[in-house]
Amino acid sequence: RFITLEGGEGAGKSTQQKKLADWLSQKGVGVIETREPGGSPGAEQIRNLLVTGAAGRWDAMTETLLHFAARRDHVVATIEPALARGAWVVCDRFADSTMAYQGFGHQLGRPPVETLARLVLGGLKPDLTLMLDLPVEEGLDRARARNGGATEAEDRYESMEIAFHERLREGFHEIAAREPERCLLVDASGTAEVVSEKIQQAVVERFGA
Ligand code: C5P
Repeated sequence: RFITLEGGEGAGKSTQQKKLADWLSQKGVGVIETREPGGSPGAEQIRNLLVTGAAGRWDAMTETLLHFAARRDHVVATIEPALARGAWVVCDRFADSTMAYQGFGHQLGRPPVETLARLVLGGLKPDLTLMLDLPVEEGLDRARARNGGATEAEDRYESMEIAFHERLREGFHEIAAREPERCLLVDASGTAEVVSEKIQQAVVERFGA
């Protein structure tokens, strides 16, 4: 089983990833936790290029290509081998993040991201995608509080205006509406425990775990 967690700034993906993986492990499921961009030695190297940026910032297409190059290596080196030996994979961000950030946020549009996803991933799709959904201001406040000032995104890439984050959220909503079988929007505004229970319930419903 391949489960991905998606969401904007401060949605709590990494907290929920850990809770979900711990819960699955306790039930005796073999599980690996991984993340994007990164998740394999080669992809982590590409992540460094993304995080440190170009002279200024990468243009949206270059950034998209780097994300897909990293993703290809991550899939080949980490995800597919784990799935092949029967492990469950819980991944913090996957292709939906590229659609939301570069396609919607940076306004590259849907077609190039879809084309690259088909080319690079073939038929590989998550079995379940949990989209942690939070009003933009609430997420940014959380992210800033966690980081003691600027959000991680502001540190790493550039300061991004509210409108960017609104487009991002809209992107995740649109993906979820297009693929309701795979995607579940999860209200992430409650406590970590409440959100985690919703996620466990979704996993049970989907897989009978
Ligand atoms: O998952 P996390 O929130 O740590 O991601 C780090 C940052 O990478 C995000 O805040 C986002 O700004 C950036 N990112 C991006 N495009 C993606 C994935 C992540 O710009 N496709």
